[in-house]
Amino acid sequence: MHRSIRLAVLAITMLASGGVAAAGEDVAVQAGAEPRPIALVIHGGAGTMSRAQLRAKDEAGIRAALEQALDAGEAVLRRGGSAVDAVAASVVVLEDSPYFNAGKGAVFNAEGINELDASIMDGDGQRAGAIAGVHRVKNPILLARAVMERSRHVMLVGDGAEAFAREVGGIALVDPSYFRTEQRWKQLEAARRLEQAGGPAAGNAYFGTVGAVALDRQGRIAAATSTGGMTNKRWGRVGDSPVIGAGTWADARCGVSATGWGEFFIRLAVAHDICARLAYGGLSLKVAADEVVMRRVPAAGGDGGVIALDAEGNIAMPFNTDGMYRAALHPDGTRQVSIFRD
Ligand code: ASP
Repeated sequence: MHRSIRLAVLAITMLASGGVAAAGEDVAVQAGAEPRPIALVIHGGAGTMSRAQLRAKDEAGIRAALEQALDAGEAVLRRGGSAVDAVAASVVVLEDSPYFNAGKGAVFNAEGINELDASIMDGDGQRAGAIAGVHRVKNPILLARAVMERSRHVMLVGDGAEAFAREVGGIALVDPSYFRTEQRWKQLEAARRLEQAGGPAAGNAYFGTVGAVALDRQGRIAAATSTGGMTNKRWGRVGDSPVIGAGTWADARCGVSATGWGEFFIRLAVAHDICARLAYGGLSLKVAADEVVMRRVPAAGGDGGVIALDAEGNIAMPFNTDGMYRAALHPDGTRQVSIFRD
């Protein structure tokens, strides 16, 4: 039922019963209307890691941050807010947490600088916004959203993106030192040592890129992804996270946010490929996501995972790495927070 009609039904129902709606209660449920499903899924990155490596203290902090991010998006959806508002709210919480490779706590590039990428897509009308290679934007996802909503463009990079942030206003800019954490600095030093010893320039310890996909009461789907990219990256390297169709995708029936070895996700257009399999092949979300993440990506030599949902609120979270930080709110109200294959 259309939201305005639902509100009218609610008003009549309340007048008849003399009732008063409690703050935060679900409008559609109170009105007695058949509520349309809401769903939300978030990730905090995939990668190679063992339970032994994850210290108990970190695990508790990571789980708490995932819960908090899920709460933020759920609150938006419960009060009838848009999927775009919900994914932005969830991703901001994860960007602000030092545990994840996005916003505060992002990895360092080869010059010892945090260089951030993000994108957002509204499946309702397939509008999208993305930014790459910014150094001062506190919450990159909010700038990506501003690009989508307040510019004629889809993707802005580097100094130009930051100039747009200043011009458009309302986007917090911070000193680059804000993003630094000791743990990420140590990771950069370790990556440099490995490189000097002739090892790979970047390992597959992606853990930390964040993302969210939501389905709102109007049946709209949105997806968002934010990252610092890969430790020790150079030459202005940009991965899949800000590339629409690779790291992020949303359309009328499907949304995806990815994490993993970005070069492979770009080459395989992973996020779009999953949703295209629903549209062209009539596949279920689970089959489509598994086919791409568990078969195509590893067959090409890449690794990582995705979170995905469809217009019925089905959720898929496949990954071909040891783990993926993830959490979901299902249409029946059940929640889950997981790291490994448990
Ligand atoms: N996909 C990201 C990138 O390649 C990294 C990640 O997911 O952690 O930039």
